[in-house]
Amino acid sequence: MAQTTLISREQIDGRVAEMAREIEAEFAGTELIALCVLKGAMFFCADLVRNMTMDVALDFIQISSYGNQKYSSGVVTILKEPQLDMRGKSVLIVEDIIDSGLSIREVHNYIESRGAAKVKTAAFLDKPKARKVPFTPEYVGFSIDPQFVIGYGLDFAEKYRNIPEVQVLSD
Ligand code: 5GP
Ligand code: MG
Repeated sequence: MAQTTLISREQIDGRVAEMAREIEAEFAGTELIALCVLKGAMFFCADLVRNMTMDVALDFIQISSYGNQKYSSGVVTILKEPQLDMRGKSVLIVEDIIDSGLSIREVHNYIESRGAAKVKTAAFLDKPKARKVPFTPEYVGFSIDPQFVIGYGLDFAEKYRNIPEVQVLSD
C-alpha cells in the first residue's frame, strides 16, 4: 500500500476555520445541533465546532460503514441513534466524506423524520463524480476526484484515522 499526501495539515486548518465562519453566518441566532457522523467525522467535527463562537449543541449518530472494504454496500443501518430532541431545531450533519451519496441521503431523511426545522450538511470531503444518488452538501471542505483517502478521521479497516493529514491510499 502506498500513501501520498493529498491535503496538508495547514490546508485543513485554514479551510475548516473558514467553514466555521460560513456556517456561523447562516445559523447565528438559531438553536443549532452539530450532528457528528461517527466515526470518520470526529476530528473534523471537533475542529469545526472549536472554530465556532456561537452556542452549538453536539450529538452523534453512527451508521453502518464499508466494513473492511473500499466500496459501499449501499445498505445503511443506524448503529447509534442521536440523543437530543431535534424538533424545531437546526441540525448540521457533519460528515467526513460523501461518495455515492447513499449514506448521507439516509442520514438526512432520518434527521428530517425526527422533526428538525432545518437540516444542512457539512462534508469535510466530497467526491461529486462518484455519486450514485443526487446529493449536494451545503458546505464542503474540499472536492476531490474519486480515489480512496485516509487520515484526519478516515480509515481503511480501522487503521490510519490518526494520521493528521489526508492521504491517498493506493495498492
Ligand atoms: P457513500 O454512502 O457516500 O458512498 O459513502 C459514505 C461513507 O463511506 C463515508 O462517510 C465514509 O465513511 C466512507 N467513504 C467513502 N469514501 C471514502 C474514502 O475515500 N475513504 C474512506 N476512508 N472512507 C470513505
Ligand atoms: Mg462515514
